[in-house]
Amino acid sequence: MNNWQELESKYYMQTIVRVPVTLVKGKGALVWDDKGKEYLDFVCGLAVNCLGHCHHVVADAVAEQANTLIQTSNWYYTVPQIRLAELLVKNSCLDRVFICNSGLEANEGAVKLARRYGSLKLNGAYEVITTMGSFHGRSLAMTAASGQPKMHEPYVPLPVGFVNVANNDIEAVRSATTDKTCAVMLEPVQGEGGVNIPGDNYLKEVRQWCDRRGILLILDEVQTGICRLGALFGYELYGIEPDILTLAKGLGSGIPVGALLAKERASVFIAGDHNSTFGGNPVTSTAAYATLKYVIDNDIAGNVSKVGRYLMDELKRLKDKYSFITDVRGRGLLVAIEFNSDIGQSVLMDCLSKGLLVNKLKPDAIRLIPPLIIGNNEVDRAIGILDEAFSGVVK
Ligand SMILES: *Cc1c(COP(=O)(O)O)cnc(C)c1O
Repeated sequence: MNNWQELESKYYMQTIVRVPVTLVKGKGALVWDDKGKEYLDFVCGLAVNCLGHCHHVVADAVAEQANTLIQTSNWYYTVPQIRLAELLVKNSCLDRVFICNSGLEANEGAVKLARRYGSLKLNGAYEVITTMGSFHGRSLAMTAASGQPKMHEPYVPLPVGFVNVANNDIEAVRSATTDKTCAVMLEPVQGEGGVNIPGDNYLKEVRQWCDRRGILLILDEVQTGICRLGALFGYELYGIEPDILTLAKGLGSGIPVGALLAKERASVFIAGDHNSTFGGNPVTSTAAYATLKYVIDNDIAGNVSKVGRYLMDELKRLKDKYSFITDVRGRGLLVAIEFNSDIGQSVLMDCLSKGLLVNKLKPDAIRLIPPLIIGNNEVDRAIGILDEAFSGVVK
């Protein structure tokens, strides 16, 4: 058998510190490595495979479409793209859709749209306010948008037009707003930045502030969208509506696809302003349509709130049992466990050897982002493994 990890170190750019396991197969919430060992997957493609691995609804739809029409270009009308746009509009507060290939692309599109809005309606305003701890993607512009200094340092100078302000602080947003501001861009719950839950009124206050100043509110729901928090879109849980919304991770249940959505009034692109060769490709659009239709028809949002509550209750029990757990927090099935020291990696490795995949969020925290179709049984199995791993932590 090939030593894949050795070959990777020889041929692949060394940009990622990987978990030492080679995954070859998946089904539902389970994956298998090249030695046949089974794992319960509470990472799920980094909050991506929302219906689990290789769900038949997605796999069959993709296979059928791949045997029918794979790629045209956006110079032509194609059915899967239009059906997907209609389904997104009919199930959201937004009016128009552009389909792309990833989260950062959706966010780039959102910022371009907001700048277009600024140039047409706000006397050339172009600045976008974002928050510290946010993550919006890894293009140069989205690196600048992300409020994480360690992401910025290797790539200066970065594109201008982004102001990173304190998170969860309405006063910080207000005082950063000038006549150059065209939009505020936020994740309803910051994902990569630490599963940071906003204060009760924060999002409403930002919404009101944007209305008062006539600027746009962009919600980056690349991670929180498609039921991750227990509603189809996170904004539903916070009683607000964005002007622009971005989606990606869960949208295709593993097939790379993103979407940029806007209210009619913010939808100011005209012909020639924006496009993508692969964006809205028949195969990826079909995967997204199949995923979205399934999550809506089967009340996956309801499942996420129910199972998410159970997971949180069980984690609180572990927190009471182990004093080195300083916090468990989350919403739906986006959950973080924080420790009083940097044991994230050793917990991850211990879980790996016991057959559970978890994500290291920070040196002192892990994240659980399981598929959205799990039930209490999978939670019990994961909790059992976590309990064992925690009981081995040397204090
Ligand atoms: C993952 C993520 C992105 C980037 O998505 P890519 O598909 O990796 O480009 C952007 N925003 C948020 C909130 C994310 O979680």
